[in-house]
Amino acid sequence: MKKRRVHNTNLILPIILALLIVVTFFIFKSSNFNQQIPDVVEIPKEVQESIKNVKPQKYLRVPILLYHYVEYVKDQGDTIRKSLNITPYTFDAEIKTLKDAGYEFITTKDLADALDDKITLPPKSVILTFDDGYRDFYTDVFPILKKYNVKAVVFVVPNFLGLPNNLDTWMLAEIAKSGLVEIGAHTMNHAYLSGLPLARVKFEVEESKKTLEKILGVKVVSFAYPYGAFDNKTIDVVKKAGFRSAVTEISGTFTLDVNRFFLYRIRPGGRVETALLDLLERQNLAQH
Ligand SMILES: [Zn+2]
Repeated sequence: MKKRRVHNTNLILPIILALLIVVTFFIFKSSNFNQQIPDVVEIPKEVQESIKNVKPQKYLRVPILLYHYVEYVKDQGDTIRKSLNITPYTFDAEIKTLKDAGYEFITTKDLADALDDKITLPPKSVILTFDDGYRDFYTDVFPILKKYNVKAVVFVVPNFLGLPNNLDTWMLAEIAKSGLVEIGAHTMNHAYLSGLPLARVKFEVEESKKTLEKILGVKVVSFAYPYGAFDNKTIDVVKKAGFRSAVTEISGTFTLDVNRFFLYRIRPGGRVETALLDLLERQNLAQH
């Protein structure tokens, strides 16, 4: 009898611990991961079909880097923000790495100009792109761009302007005026465009261009698909709206006339020096 009771007592603690772990896991899972819509990282089948027999006439190799947050994250429990973030210190080191390696910083508009034979790109060109128009673009990124005198592109969601986490209109106006930053559109409401009714796609795409042009008094010619989600209908609407290129979240460095409306990008993460340069020169990224 005595022996058995000791045995049972010894089991209580591990059982409580196991239960705690399971409960914590489910709380963590429901509070963080369910809110994230997965990004589209492959060319949709119908788009692959439509370009199957198209022979590319143009071939450029320009790494387009994709950033979201660049800041010192205050809320350490904000796992989504942390996963999309690099610190300003790391971002500064990345720019220094690229500059020292002889990279020149161009914009997506420059890339479109090169595809249209209006300009010739420097042999080592790179594009920095920032999605969503977060407030830290003004407070943390912009000062570093000015410090190194390098260009970048920010893709803005007009209906997010003025929210606590996002740029104020006056910040965006100052950024646009600097001559260093091209302003691109990212739909009116950060909409997942693929599969939406045509009228809604048209509204999200066309209005985002018109609204930004009206606010800033500049031409907006570059587009980024929220969540990287696009299909043939979306591409058609983006083209007809007057955009000259569009970026996705498909990994790669190759720009053809064929994929100018679904350009590939690379996530540099926290890589600096050799790790970053290797990533940009890697050949085994999507080449399509
Ligand atoms: Zn976005």
